[in-house]
Amino acid sequence: MTLFETAIFAPLLCIPLLLFPQFALPAEFPLFWGVAAFAIAGGIAGRSGTFASAAFVTTFLGGFIGYAVFFGLAFSPLNLLFTVMHGLVAGVAGWASAKRHVATVRAEVKLENDEKRRCKMCGVRVGLWAKKCWSCRASLARYT
Ligand SMILES: [Zn+2]
Repeated sequence: MTLFETAIFAPLLCIPLLLFPQFALPAEFPLFWGVAAFAIAGGIAGRSGTFASAAFVTTFLGGFIGYAVFFGLAFSPLNLLFTVMHGLVAGVAGWASAKRHVATVRAEVKLENDEKRRCKMCGVRVGLWAKKCWSCRASLARYT
């Protein structure tokens, strides 16, 4: 579940934020850490998604809920703008990683279904044992 993955994982990565005030760190550092944590959580959660657009919605909601719960408890009162911003970061990261994931899966499926030795990414003829398309560099490794 992408939504719950993000909602649980992002706050876990933010736990060090509670310790930062004890160190002499720049004021901006916790902010960067928080954004990075949500980007990582969204990216990891998005990899399990099937559709990029669905991954965006679920990681956004996951990031939003995760931020609202964690920061609502840790640093109240809650800043709604920051909550939306962090959710958006997680959503974009989830969307990007899901898009990459879906693209590789589609290329492999297309090649497996192809009877002729043609690259399905660009349509050129490729050699019988070619591992990569000579034209568009698409991987043909799964074509057996
Ligand atoms: Zn090609």
